[in-house]
Amino acid sequence: MNCSPDVLKDYLLGELPGPDCLTVEAHVRVCLTCSEELERLRTAQAVLASSPDVEMPRRISFVSDRVFEPGWWQRLWNSAPRLGFASAMVLAAAILVHGLTRPAPAVPEATAYSQEAVEARIEAEVSRRIPAAVAQAVAEHDARLRTEMARLVAASESKLNFERRADLVTFEQAFTLLKKQVDMLQYPRLASSEMVPSR
Ligand SMILES: [Zn+2]
Repeated sequence: MNCSPDVLKDYLLGELPGPDCLTVEAHVRVCLTCSEELERLRTAQAVLASSPDVEMPRRISFVSDRVFEPGWWQRLWNSAPRLGFASAMVLAAAILVHGLTRPAPAVPEATAYSQEAVEARIEAEVSRRIPAAVAQAVAEHDARLRTEMARLVAASESKLNFERRADLVTFEQAFTLLKKQVDMLQYPRLASSEMVPSR
């Protein structure tokens, strides 16, 4: 088997047929370069596996397939540090994919909309409740006013009655006193007894 990082990736991702796996394992045992590369791939896989929400193996495969596509860097691929650089690229690309595929935060428009909706609901509710509240307050005020007026009227009537009674008593007393004086003038004999029977 020739040294091939693609084969190592497929091996690590479990995408190689059984016999090929045996071939890779045999090759890695004798090839230091591929052994190190496989170790780097395993490290990258472990790092990604520790990040939540990442379907790691498929993504590594997908991203690295694009990263490893032939082109300008096919030449770099064949240079001496190619394997270490390749696995670093796999890791970087996988991290990039992880960042790009992270769940998007809540859409601000949706938040603004729901906030507006809430405010509109509150406003509608307030404008629905205010007339009823005002009517109720007026009704309560009227009721209190009527009660207070009734109380004041009753109190003033009571006071008036009391004053009438007082006036009456005063009048009766004055009348009694006047009657005594008249009686004393008309009936001096009886006035000395102070027992004038009132008619
Ligand atoms: Zn090798």
